[in-house]
Amino acid sequence: MCSSLIAKEVTESLLNVQRMASRIEKLSHISSGQGPGVTRLAYTESDERATQQVEEWMIAAGMVITRDQFHNVIGRYEGTDVSAAPVVVGSHIDSVPEGGAYDGVLGVLAGIEVVQELSTRGMRCIRPIHVMIFRDEEGVRFQAGLIGSKGFTGLLREQDLQLQDEKGITLAEAITALGEDESITTVIVKQPNIASYVELHIKQGPLLDEYKIPCSVVNGIAGAARYRFKVVGNPGHAGTVPMALRKDALLAAAEIILAIEQQAILHDSLVATVGHLSVLPGASNVIPGVVEGSLDIRSLDEQLIKSSIATIIQVCEQICRLRGVDVSFTCVGYSPPVQASKRMISLIESVLAQHKITALPLVSGAGHDAMVMGAITEMGMIFVRCKEGISHHPAEYVDISDMEVALDVLFGVIYQLANDF
Ligand SMILES: [Zn+2]
Repeated sequence: MCSSLIAKEVTESLLNVQRMASRIEKLSHISSGQGPGVTRLAYTESDERATQQVEEWMIAAGMVITRDQFHNVIGRYEGTDVSAAPVVVGSHIDSVPEGGAYDGVLGVLAGIEVVQELSTRGMRCIRPIHVMIFRDEEGVRFQAGLIGSKGFTGLLREQDLQLQDEKGITLAEAITALGEDESITTVIVKQPNIASYVELHIKQGPLLDEYKIPCSVVNGIAGAARYRFKVVGNPGHAGTVPMALRKDALLAAAEIILAIEQQAILHDSLVATVGHLSVLPGASNVIPGVVEGSLDIRSLDEQLIKSSIATIIQVCEQICRLRGVDVSFTCVGYSPPVQASKRMISLIESVLAQHKITALPLVSGAGHDAMVMGAITEMGMIFVRCKEGISHHPAEYVDISDMEVALDVLFGVIYQLANDF
């Protein structure tokens, strides 16, 4: 079924979910290594082979393709106003090692299907539509991520080109290896003029599956603060120091972790994780003297991140004072939240409503190219249910009936955006 928004012009949808599903299957076999799942690290031979395959599908759908200096692919479907700023729909097709078939790929191929539907009918929107493949979203190879979208928007830093993979190959060398052009020496680009950006992506978490909703709107992408904490107590003999005289750093850290959980569960819109601990000296017969840990705290509400961190530090200092140990927190990373545009949220909600889907407002806890594109244009995202929310894993799976609904919704959204609703 096609969006009723264009019912006047189109009576029956030609959106071909079977074709899209078989293309996803085909791409899943373009993988490096022998392991299960998809391994397509950025700017590698398998990544490039998959990119060339998708370019062929773009051309078949009626697009003219170009690449920018970062080898991001831009498939352009002309509008009736050739000088109008385009609507961009995009995502990535690189993967983590032994990842899933749908992460990123679904968004790119869904964009191609939308254009294929228009071109098959000989329909043009007012604005051009660009379907984009952003390179190196995952960040596995160069430990950075969102490289392509940052490059495209002019947000990549000059020094990022010198990032190295584990073989010592720099990002600049990896990009240059893909083309016959001169080597890439600068990240300076002319900032693109884009009307709006929409990204369809699998929901990398269990909420849609839990609520049995095929797809929904994303309110924004959570900001993330990353801290290291260090608790310093007194090491001692596990057999000779009485309990009352101990300054056990690990016991203090245990209380700290529980206090962090308590602070996080006070707020529905906040998540906090202690994912790494190291205990020194780390012997079964020695009282732990030093514990170092990580804290990852995320929310769409920047103020809430800041106030929660302040409270956590205060509570943890109190815990450690009572235990006679010291604690310190060091910020090691921060990325601010990015809100989807209100106009885009209400447009996506209205298209969902036409398909009788109650919008469950979602926050993305994971980063996406949309968070970078949100810096230069209005941004919106549609999340699609993925079985049990499993992602970055060979078991990643999206039901074809969910893909069909999502494709319809994406069509309705792009059609309106490109016709300046
Ligand atoms: Zn992704």
